[in-house]
Amino acid sequence: MKSMRSLHSHTRLLALIASIALPFASAQPKPVTAERIIAADSEPQNWLAHGRTYGEQRYSPLKQVNDGNVDKLGLAWSYATNSTRGLQATPIVVDGRMYATGVWSVVYALDAKTGKELWAYDPQVPREWGRYACCDAVNRGVALWGDALYFATLDGRLISLDARTGKQRWEINTIDRTKPYTITGAPRVIKGKVLIGNGGGEYGVRGYFSAYDADTGRLAWRFFTVPGNPRDGFESPEMEAAAKTWTGEWWTGGGGGTVWDSMAYDPDLDTLYVGTGNGSPWARSIRSPGGGDNLYLSSILALDPDTGRLKWHYQVTPGDNWDYTATQHMILAELPIGGKPRKVLMQAPKNGFFYVIDRVTGELLSADKYIPATWASHVDMKTGRPVETPEGDWSKETKLIVPAAFGGHNWHPMAFNPQTGLVYIPAMQPAGIYPPSTEFLRTGKYTRQEMFWNPGVDWNNYANTVYAILAQTGGNLPQDRGYLKAWDPVAKKTRWEIEYPAFWNGGLLTTAGNLLFQGTGDGRFVAYSADQGKTLWSVPTMVGIVAPPVTYSVDGEQYIAVLAGYGGAGAVTGGDPRTMASGKYLNEGHILAFKLGGTAPLPKISERNLDIPEPPASTATAAQVENGKYRYAATCMVCHGALVVSGGVVPDLRRLTAEKHSIFKQIVYDGVIHSAGMPRMGDLVSEQDVADIQAYIIERSQQDRAAAATAAAKK
Ligand code: CA
Repeated sequence: MKSMRSLHSHTRLLALIASIALPFASAQPKPVTAERIIAADSEPQNWLAHGRTYGEQRYSPLKQVNDGNVDKLGLAWSYATNSTRGLQATPIVVDGRMYATGVWSVVYALDAKTGKELWAYDPQVPREWGRYACCDAVNRGVALWGDALYFATLDGRLISLDARTGKQRWEINTIDRTKPYTITGAPRVIKGKVLIGNGGGEYGVRGYFSAYDADTGRLAWRFFTVPGNPRDGFESPEMEAAAKTWTGEWWTGGGGGTVWDSMAYDPDLDTLYVGTGNGSPWARSIRSPGGGDNLYLSSILALDPDTGRLKWHYQVTPGDNWDYTATQHMILAELPIGGKPRKVLMQAPKNGFFYVIDRVTGELLSADKYIPATWASHVDMKTGRPVETPEGDWSKETKLIVPAAFGGHNWHPMAFNPQTGLVYIPAMQPAGIYPPSTEFLRTGKYTRQEMFWNPGVDWNNYANTVYAILAQTGGNLPQDRGYLKAWDPVAKKTRWEIEYPAFWNGGLLTTAGNLLFQGTGDGRFVAYSADQGKTLWSVPTMVGIVAPPVTYSVDGEQYIAVLAGYGGAGAVTGGDPRTMASGKYLNEGHILAFKLGGTAPLPKISERNLDIPEPPASTATAAQVENGKYRYAATCMVCHGALVVSGGVVPDLRRLTAEKHSIFKQIVYDGVIHSAGMPRMGDLVSEQDVADIQAYIIERSQQDRAAAATAAAKK
């Protein structure tokens, strides 16, 4: 009996040890492999890769949450990122752990069931680098491979961490650090190689993307997207061919073509697809004065992922002239076209046309407007080329063109639901002012503003045209609209659509539960029926959402998670703060996870003080204010917003305190608060310019104080 008891207690002890050890063992995710990602549908509880699968459909087979019970969704947990700028990441979820990125490229590892932080990693991005980011200090997420995690930083580094501990494995530099490159995109890992591009097309850089060995960080290959100076020799036969489509001394402006977001992979065809960006500068008359298509700007590239050699390309906007990138989300699917199943690639690039392409051959199958674009009448299916309109030609005079540089669709991911056959597009209809450079029209020369936003337009024209249109329309720029569109890629038309108050809204997730999830710029998280677009559930997040939701499950419970934190180009440069949550509330970032019956309270978000304080008295002359207006548009507007009206993500300068006004020169010219994210501008503007910018800000503050007083008196 004694020995039995002893054996029994020994067994109990073992069981006790096992019960202590097991949670640790099971809490560690299993290594992520190509086989797992390719067979992602066999483990729908996870979200293993950026678009869930290599084909990037953003469709989940999970259906515990469905159109019959979605109204029972409640918050399961929230995690405060302690940031007030844009959150754009797709969380990766592996075996109960979530990995996401936030502002300034910080990485978070959380328990996906509770939201408890497991570790966080701050790569210490120098805040001065924010000056090179056209579109906010954002990051779109991580990739996992084996037990390692990969992400890139705003200042161009690629870093690998141990996903279990957050300890650094390696860090490499991917850019020429004397050039204003930035990285906001998520890396992808294919066959043991980490793929990453970069941004900077508005800053005079030359685009490329690279493949690095996942174990060592060693460069495997690099594909430049536009040719450099032919005198330096060509890196590849692709560049030699591309150079024939450029004229003049294009390399002096960098050329552009940056690969800042979209990639997809077909393991059966062993083909990598990459979308490329706009021309640098935007104005093609400056960039390539003798004309030409300017390969491989605004193109979809199909490549061999082992070698980086090009298989085929399709250029959506030949000779781009409008910042019409093809870096937008690409979805791989099989569609019945002409009665035959075809392996297709689908994209809704900025230019307003929805493209269906045979991804085996690169053959264009259809190209149809998903918004009323005015720059081209149609795409000629014989040549595969857009037919440009006179309305789109801004080479000689300022034009208002749809879409604006924000695009008919920007980086916000779409989703494809194989059950409905619909592609859901976070679509926009912004109108853009394109003013040609008066210097270039007069002299045939264009003075580049080095190391700064530099798209080849004229800011005097820009500001004056904005004021003329505002005067005509009583204060509203026309047609800045935001939509959710359900696009039928076979019938080539919109099946249904929802119009939103803000034009800049969130990415999409669709599920087998006949659901479609989207966050909005006005601060809601909404579930629609995927087939009909009926609103089934909605919660006020009070924070605008641009990130795409994901879904996963832990211990048999399905979660829907999304990052809430407004940001990106449409939030900093554009947008009407009256339509955006960030115009009314502080933009306090959170990761939110919902489940059926969740009872956690939504985070309390602070209201913004919208009063415009009395600015200091100004003695500036009208000519100085005019110079300040021009300098503001050229130097400040890209982050602080047109007409000194900010969407709230970056400080609204009409609300500067007396203390900030008193050190305005030190802030702007000397950079005394650069560690807070406001870079030094002393190399771009003179001390007199800074004084004039301040005078212009004071004038705008006074104008809007007076307008607010008049409005209050009318009430
Ligand atoms: Ca661009």
